[in-house]
Amino acid sequence: MKLNGSDYHRPDVQHNNSLTTMTILDGKKVSNDIKDEITAEVKKMKDNGEKVPHLAAVIVGNDGASLTYVGSKVRACERVGFESTMVRLSNTTSEIELLDKIEELNNNEDIDGFIIQLPLPPQINTQKVLMAVHPDKDVDGFHPMNFGKMALDMSTFIPATPFGILELLDRYNVDTKGKHTVVIGRSHIVGRPMSILMGRKGFPGNSTVTLTHSHTKNITQIISQADIVISALGVPNFLKAEMVKDDAVIIDVGITRVPDETLPKGYKITGDVDFENVSKKASYITPVPGGVGPMTIAMLLKNTLLARERHRLL
Ligand code: NAP
Repeated sequence: MKLNGSDYHRPDVQHNNSLTTMTILDGKKVSNDIKDEITAEVKKMKDNGEKVPHLAAVIVGNDGASLTYVGSKVRACERVGFESTMVRLSNTTSEIELLDKIEELNNNEDIDGFIIQLPLPPQINTQKVLMAVHPDKDVDGFHPMNFGKMALDMSTFIPATPFGILELLDRYNVDTKGKHTVVIGRSHIVGRPMSILMGRKGFPGNSTVTLTHSHTKNITQIISQADIVISALGVPNFLKAEMVKDDAVIIDVGITRVPDETLPKGYKITGDVDFENVSKKASYITPVPGGVGPMTIAMLLKNTLLARERHRLL
């Protein structure tokens, strides 16, 4: 087991067949560290009389979860000293209207990067919209040019959630070389890029990766062989203790709102992992909330800082 100074360490947990202990991968703490680092960079920019990074977020419609996510992103911008702009469009916005707005943001010299919050209403073709974002401003890393560069190990914007997971593994010095990583879920924003990144040359990486999905046969057996499990399917408590091997590293990407009338909001946020029991077997594990979620926002900020730096050099 490895411990960094800040790790939450539970020496009371002794695993069935080993003497290792479990470490929580504390995304909340690490994301705050990253935000502090970005804040310091922004201060330097201000002290030098330079323009600070400016992130715009476009939201179409009134989806509660999407509004919450965009609100958190805007607050995170304020926290580090970025400028931010929220563009709110109605649920009835046409594809052409959204494409016009994207063109405007592409041409706005003041905006360094922008995101289109997903999901979009059904009248809009998501792929067409994401392709319209200029690759230099695509801080979500969803444009095919950026995705391709990522797959070819070229410098680019890495999608924020996989980027956040890499950063967590890196900062906790979790060994990935030669390990068997099983990724559950093959979405374009999490599972697919994660599988590419874990298999790349370098650290974190050099893993042997199995990418699983809803058509995977014998998924339980495959997961039981994993040294590292990255779960991104969105099925609450899908991953049970009996499915993972002792000392596995568990990354829980899932965020599902599960109704809970005892809470003021009427729901609770639940991950893909049965945390209470899986944590007793894991060597490292991310909690939900407080794991991958906050890292995603921190890495969006990092991508925006990168976009500003590139923009400045043009
Ligand atoms: P998604 O588009 O919702 O797709 C789910 C994936 O899981 C699909 O590839 C699907 O397979 C697979 N899947 C579904 N049921 C399965 C099963 N029983 N066994 C194996 N695979 C199964 O994926 P997503 O957008 O990546 O979202 C996944 C979860 O992560 C959601 O809870 C989402 O809210 C959360 N999320 C969290 C963050 C964060 O910052 N923490 C960021 C993004 C997403 P098929 O391809 O065969 O349909």
